[in-house]
Amino acid sequence: MSQSPNLAPLPVAEAQRIILETIAPIGVERLPITETVGRVLREMVIAPADIPPHDNSAMDGYAVVAADSAGAEAETPVRLRVIGDLPAGRVPSVPLSSGQAIRIMTGAPIPVGTTGVVMVERTKADGEFVDVSVSVREGENIRPRGEDVTAGSAILNPGDVLRAAEIGTLAAMRRSFVTVSRAPTVAILATGDELTEPDEPAAPGKIVNSNAYALAALVREAGGTPRTLPIVRDSPEALELSISEALAADFIVSSGGVSVGDYDYVKPVLAKMGLDAKFWRVWMKPGKPLLFGMLQDTPYVGLPGNPVSTMVCFLLFVRPALRKAMGFPEATWLPPTVTAKLAADVKTKADRPTYLRARVTWSDGGFVARVMPAQGSGVLSSMLGAEGLVFFEEGKKTGAAGEEVKVVLIRNPFE
Ligand code: AMP
Ligand code: MG
Repeated sequence: MSQSPNLAPLPVAEAQRIILETIAPIGVERLPITETVGRVLREMVIAPADIPPHDNSAMDGYAVVAADSAGAEAETPVRLRVIGDLPAGRVPSVPLSSGQAIRIMTGAPIPVGTTGVVMVERTKADGEFVDVSVSVREGENIRPRGEDVTAGSAILNPGDVLRAAEIGTLAAMRRSFVTVSRAPTVAILATGDELTEPDEPAAPGKIVNSNAYALAALVREAGGTPRTLPIVRDSPEALELSISEALAADFIVSSGGVSVGDYDYVKPVLAKMGLDAKFWRVWMKPGKPLLFGMLQDTPYVGLPGNPVSTMVCFLLFVRPALRKAMGFPEATWLPPTVTAKLAADVKTKADRPTYLRARVTWSDGGFVARVMPAQGSGVLSSMLGAEGLVFFEEGKKTGAAGEEVKVVLIRNPFE
């Protein structure tokens, strides 16, 4: 290890800063736009042509020479001769002259000579004539060419997150493929002699490797691709073999084995493999043993084994790293912090800065946080339905109902 294990644990913000400054952008790939929802664009997209490509009608109605309709009203309509019909998709074949009208549908190109469109509701068809009962303004109901997008303008830029509007706009610009950030692969490595898989029979002393499943889901939710490796037994040889395989991924995340127990081999094995360790403890609860470093060119995060600690540390440290790598806007790397009112009195040990799992709801114009009763770092069920982590600084032992507290949102409380 390049850092003495005797160094004091880092504050959360400092650990986050170190991780984020270490992470480099991931590579790119070219994908059909239908597969880019939630991806980050990595190219500038210049509009190849105007959208819409021609002046067109904003209404179903009649293309007219606006001046012809001057003074028209319901009782004194102006009669025009209908010389054509333009459904959307058809191009005008004849120009329009004074005294004439062309029936036109929304989106159809505007015929030469037209200076306004009168909506159908203000007209009355009568054989080859139409009576217009309103005075049409110059340009009325004509959508000009390029109103939406002007040819040559940079409509989308590197760093834009592709959602429905962006993908629709790409399609409108005839872009069926775009260059986006790759989804980083994240090797997930659960360590522990006590671990079994969910479909293995229960056995004395054994527990289910739930972390690998929770972590794989967190990776997917963060936009990455999980690569779960087989359970790693608590032996240095098994660990080294597994970490070597994990190096094929863009990130490595392990759970367990980073503490100071007799069988916690992650640190010594990584040291032997040449890890450039940045830190190995963070001053927080849940958590504390949390290792971060670069193994060759691969970021390695050693998460604590306790199921809640694993999830909370992933959300506070790994997800931000993945987001930075994928090129998301900097303001969205870390989970957002909001102010909420405590729903009830809260007590905690206060021996470290503490993140308390809580239900967060929106009520009467503000967030309300309901702290889960069981806050042990092994109580995974306390994460069920938790939208936030209520933050208590070190030394803060109690919170009173109604008190305003800071809450780190770990899920969208409106979904
Ligand atoms: P460790 O960090 O390896 O000392 O593990 C701390 C606690 O987390 C122990 O109670 C482990 O049994 C538990 N634990 C470790 N890994 C996992 C896992 N993959 N799934 C569920 N619990 C785990
Ligand atoms: Mg262990």
